[in-house]
This record gives sequence, structure tokens and C-alpha cells, in this order.
Amino acid sequence: MPRFASTLKARFEVAERTMAFVFDRPGGLDFTAGQYAQLVLPDPPYTDAGGNRRTFSIASGVHDTAALQFATRMTGSAMKRSLAEVALGTPVEILGPGGSFTLHEDASAPAVFIAGGIGITPFRSILLDAVRRRLPHRITLIYSNRNPEGAAFHEELARLAAACPSIAYIPTMTQADTSRRAWSGERRYVNADFLRDHVGDLTTPIFYLAGPPGLVEGLTKVVVEAGADPSHVRVEEFVGY
Ligand SMILES: Cc1cc2nc3c(=O)[nH]c(=O)nc-3n(C[C@H](O)[C@H](O)[C@H](O)COP(=O)(O)OP(=O)(O)OC[C@H]3O[C@@H](n4cnc5c(N)ncnc54)[C@H](O)[C@@H]3O)c2cc1C
Repeated sequence: MPRFASTLKARFEVAERTMAFVFDRPGGLDFTAGQYAQLVLPDPPYTDAGGNRRTFSIASGVHDTAALQFATRMTGSAMKRSLAEVALGTPVEILGPGGSFTLHEDASAPAVFIAGGIGITPFRSILLDAVRRRLPHRITLIYSNRNPEGAAFHEELARLAAACPSIAYIPTMTQADTSRRAWSGERRYVNADFLRDHVGDLTTPIFYLAGPPGLVEGLTKVVVEAGADPSHVRVEEFVGY
């Protein structure tokens, strides 16, 4: 993969225990929405067996030529503690892009995105791009979290969908009673009934599933058992969680 020099530009919280890290986007780093890159922090203040390199889906839009954004759960690993503490302007290396978890071209097939937790990152990039380029695809985004506090980009995604009739946004909070906020939306785990209620015909869409491997494996079974053609299911497993 091509290797680029960059620097840490900004960082901020996007949900409970979840941070966005923004880097200068190197000239020549072209990507398609949904792809990932590898981030290397050359001289981290903390070290452990996990090392100083991580793969992250690119969460920012393709049209943002100034910045490249990643978002991650702050698990306490040395790499992530280092990222949270090093000075802005710290040099990093970015390798990429990689992967083929990108939106299909044939707009006559609807897309159903299902994100578990931090699995939202590639979908944010794809949705920003779809809105920007006025893509005609019908897109349903199902976003499963325990509660709204942990749902990165939730308000932004709700606004995007409200402004764009071809995008439906279905957040589900499976432990909404653990939240300090009132929640009147979906609370169910994603299952066959959930999919029939919110997607309807399950034979035509292309399904995209992203998040920790156990979750993606479980969702794949649900989607196929509910009637999706297995060849219509694309997955991005966040190996390492
Ligand atoms: C395509 C892809 C996209 C991803 N996108 C994101 C994202 O947008 N946001 C996000 O938070 N995370 C993402 N991840 C997961 C991310 O790379 C880290 O593994 C995860 O964040 C956990 O890192 P940690 O430092 O918290 O945990 P640690 O346990 O300290 O780190 C995990 C380390 O072990 C390695 N590792 C562990 N298990 C395996 C395995 N089975 N195979 C290979 N290597 C392994 C990891 O690469 C990493 O070096 C993605 C992973 C992949 C493969």
C-alpha cells in the first residue's frame, strides 16, 4: 500500500469512550468512500504488545481534501492512549487506501447498511459522499448501539437523512434504559422481524454489515436467514475488537 507522511490535526469526542482523530490529508491519497487506511504512530509515548499500527476505516468524506478522519472506541490500549495524548502536529504515517467495502454502482439495487457500534465509520464516509454527489441509490442505514450516548455521529446522521429523501435512518438502542436521555425509537436487536418491518423486500437490496467480528458474523446469519441472497451480503469485520 502507498505510504504517506501526515500529522495529527485535531481530536475530539464523538460519543462516550469514542474519539475522532483528524489528520492532514496527504496529497495523492485518493480513496473511495468505505475504504480503510493503516495509521502508524512512529514514536508513541506508550507501548504494548498491540504495537503502534492500526487499521481504521476512513470516516470522513472523499470531498474533504484537507483532512482524513478516523473514529475509534478508546479501549485503553497503548496506541490509543498515545493518540489521545500526543501533541497536535505529531507526525504519523498513513498507508492506504485499502479494501472494497464501497457502494455498488447499480442504483436500481437498494443498499441496506447495518452498523454495530463503531462499525458506523465507513458508512459515514459513504453517506457523506452519496449526499454530496446526489447519488440516486435508496439507502437504509440501521445503526445498533446500547444507548444514544455511545452512538457516534447519531445526530449528524439523523440530520443527513432528514435532508435527503433517498436515505432512511433507523437507529436502534438495545439498552436504552441505561441512558440518561429519553429514547422513543427502536430498541430491538436486529432480527428478521426488524428487517421485514424496516426494509420490506429482502431479496433485492445489497446488504453491507460492519463492526466487531462477532457482531458481523451474527448479523450475517440474521440477514441470510431472513431471506437475503448470500451473494448480496458484503461485510467489513473490524478485526482486533
Ligand atoms: C478493515 C478494518 C477496518 C477497521 N476500522 C476501524 C474503525 O473505523 N474504528 C475502530 O475503532 N477500529 C477499526 N478497526 C479495528 C482496529 O484496527 C483495531 O483492531 C481496534 O480498534 C482495536 O484496537 P485496540 O488498540 O483497541 O485493541 P488492541 O487489542 O490493543 O489491538 C488489537 C491489535 O491486535 C491486532 N489483532 C488483534 N486480533 C487480531 C486478529 N485476529 N487478526 C489480526 N490482527 C489482530 C490488531 O491489528 C491490533 O494491532 C478496523 C479493522 C479492520 C480490519
